Amino acid sequence: MIYDVIIVGAGPAGLTAGIYARSKMMSTLILESGKVGGQLVTLYPEKGVHNFPGFESVQARKLSDKLYAQAESLECDIHENEQVDEIKDGDQILEVVTSKTVYQARSVIIAIGMGQFFPKKMGAPGEEEFTDKGITYILPVKEDLVGKKVVMFGGGNSAIEMALIADSVTDTTIVHRRPEFRADEINVKNLDNSNVCRIMSATVKSFNGKDHLESITLDQNGQELQIPADLAVINIGILANLDVLKRWGLELTENGLIKVGYDMSTNRHGIFACGDAVDYPGKYKQIITGCGEAATASVMAYKFVKKPYWA
Ligand SMILES: Cc1cc2nc3c(=O)[nH]c(=O)nc-3n(C[C@H](O)[C@H](O)[C@H](O)COP(=O)(O)OP(=O)(O)OC[C@H]3O[C@@H](n4cnc5c(N)ncnc54)[C@H](O)[C@@H]3O)c2cc1C
Repeated sequence: MIYDVIIVGAGPAGLTAGIYARSKMMSTLILESGKVGGQLVTLYPEKGVHNFPGFESVQARKLSDKLYAQAESLECDIHENEQVDEIKDGDQILEVVTSKTVYQARSVIIAIGMGQFFPKKMGAPGEEEFTDKGITYILPVKEDLVGKKVVMFGGGNSAIEMALIADSVTDTTIVHRRPEFRADEINVKNLDNSNVCRIMSATVKSFNGKDHLESITLDQNGQELQIPADLAVINIGILANLDVLKRWGLELTENGLIKVGYDMSTNRHGIFACGDAVDYPGKYKQIITGCGEAATASVMAYKFVKKPYWA
């Protein structure tokens, strides 16, 4: 079978591209190297998304579930755990080589977000030893926090929002290495109005315990501080790897992201792109912008493949 469009990546941009492609009756396959949902399920499933139109507030994994359900109900073929390794030019078609097989498509939409990504580590003594034994990089579900002393590390929006979620069910502390947060005013204000204990200008000297994390030694302006902890959540950023884009012969911007035109076209014939993986002046990495770009990418793929008389 030759698909009208193959979409690479099933984050919000890829799922939206699928929804729009199917609404134009294009045969559509979405290939996802991990689980459907992208950053929403991998990095912040418990966090509330407060800026997606139509929802005053929606938990990230629920928003992802809704996009997934909508794409499935429109009969997108969706394959999880199937990584795209190559996109080759064939005879009038594109060949999409995955970890499992080779597919043929008349067009491709790349929506791989940050590509392969991993949470940044602190590199502090004890961090490796207690990973999954009291140290985590993603906030567990609220039920698993009850009764635990949670210590959140980080000073951005994500760390504050997750500290607030934890605070709604348990004793929570936030530790930041600088004297001020680098988060939105609204989040800092919400933190001010919460019970979260703050420790500013502090770095980790060591994570301590026997079989499980029990305490953390901090250095605060040269003073040693020992705090009890059952769970340390490290939220200090993400390391992304988009090396694959060069291999796919795509023109990149100086930020290492896919250079797209106003119509989400790339330098490769029949290949469009959307979401966090693309770059243009004024690009703002958000769910709504990725979804908007996905709609454009899909309609341009439709015009490319079907060549309607009105296009
Ligand atoms: C902590 C945090 C909080 C955030 N909060 C908000 C918020 O409140 N509101 C908001 O609007 N935005 C928020 N964002 C930003 C938002 O999550 C991103 O802009 C959005 O996820 C981008 O969607 P995407 O589909 O482009 O990429 P992603 O969500 O990264 O999805 C890309 C998918 O492609 C897959 N993939 C990668 N490489 C391959 C491959 N070779 N083959 C197949 N599949 C592949 C990945 O596994 C992934 O599932 C937040 C981001 C972070 C990190």
